[in-house]
Amino acid sequence: MPVALTDTEVRRIRNDFPILEKEVNGKPLVYLDSGATSQNPVSVLEAEQEFYEQRNAAVHRGAHQLAVDATDAFEDARATVAGFVGATDSELVWTANATAGLNLLAYSFSNASVGHAGAAAERFMLAPGDEVLVTEMEHHANLIPWQELCRRTGATLKFIPIDDDGALRLEEADRLITGRTKVLAFTHVSNVLGSINPVQELTAMAHRVGALVVLDACQSAPHLPLDLKALDVDFAVFSGHKMLGPTGIGALYGRAGLLDAMPPFLTGGSMITTVSMSEAQYLPAPQRFEAGTQAVSQAVAFAAAVNYLGETGMERIHRWEMELGQRLVVGLQAIDGVRVLGPVAGRDRTGLAAFDVAGVHAHDVGQFLDARGIAVRVGHHCAQPLHRRLGLSASTRASTYLYNTTDEIDQLLDAVSNVRGYFG
Ligand code: PLP
Repeated sequence: MPVALTDTEVRRIRNDFPILEKEVNGKPLVYLDSGATSQNPVSVLEAEQEFYEQRNAAVHRGAHQLAVDATDAFEDARATVAGFVGATDSELVWTANATAGLNLLAYSFSNASVGHAGAAAERFMLAPGDEVLVTEMEHHANLIPWQELCRRTGATLKFIPIDDDGALRLEEADRLITGRTKVLAFTHVSNVLGSINPVQELTAMAHRVGALVVLDACQSAPHLPLDLKALDVDFAVFSGHKMLGPTGIGALYGRAGLLDAMPPFLTGGSMITTVSMSEAQYLPAPQRFEAGTQAVSQAVAFAAAVNYLGETGMERIHRWEMELGQRLVVGLQAIDGVRVLGPVAGRDRTGLAAFDVAGVHAHDVGQFLDARGIAVRVGHHCAQPLHRRLGLSASTRASTYLYNTTDEIDQLLDAVSNVRGYFG
């Protein structure tokens, strides 16, 4: 049974991340904003540079050696990232980020709804009377594309509510998932509450009525072992920049068979077999969803990032972050006037906690911490409906990763314990 990383190992890991050496506002940087974007190890930075120095060319096109090398690097990267989440190469489409993956799905479903791709695309068609179900804790990226899809097709958007502690109300899910439900889209790990949702249970409910399941794995793929096949979801999205990789690259997973039946969203070069002046035939997945020049060096660096995570061990990272998360939540709860959002510490939580400091605006909390070199996120974290449900307009969020130490958590707790005194 793998054990959590140790403080000593984490200190060694930190040496791989040049930015963690920085001082901010005259203080050593304490980076607790990896939920927004993570930092890059040297191996990721070098992979991108090596690609540009040795293999840069257009992929899937040229007959020259560099083009072959670039294509090999690009497709090897796909196999690596797909393998990291338990998928095969043809099930993984490169996207700009998770948001782009969710929009790709919503627009492909729209195209299916107007008859594009005919009977093969029937599963993706939506019409008045059909329902798309999300949860009340979604990031806007997994909410607005579905709102827009419903507007375009006349389908109805519904949501599974949370309780006062931020936990998903599963009995409501059971009531809301009906024969009308065509799509269930939900987050694996909440980017505000840090809670881990019961994917298999929800997926089984949705599949019982023939609905498609879309998983937002943005906050889970970076932090815990993820086997999309075992979870049985139909689609999933995640972003490279949240898991030690570069910006500009993400992935959409689609179960084998589904992607080939789905109409494309963006069209143009690189995704076709034959084109006449009146119509075009499309390549199978994943190329049918990759129109135009792709983020090749970023894909290569993304693969280096998941290699780094894989070599460190996802279960060990997860256990370490649960320890950090526990320390964070318990410590925050013990501070007078601090309210932690979401279910309290426990196994089903990652190393992320959003909190409210009574009488002090989150932006002030953020600035107070920044002056001490501590980087956190403030605001609604792209989850306005969730904040509204919890009676807030903004919160402060500390989020960990494999390179954070217990000492950094203690520095944050010490600083937060002084916030009210400073502003009071
Ligand atoms: N979903 C969740 C749960 C997130 O935390 C984020 C990023 O904050 C996103 C979606 C959107 O990710 P990106 O901005 O990389 O597309």
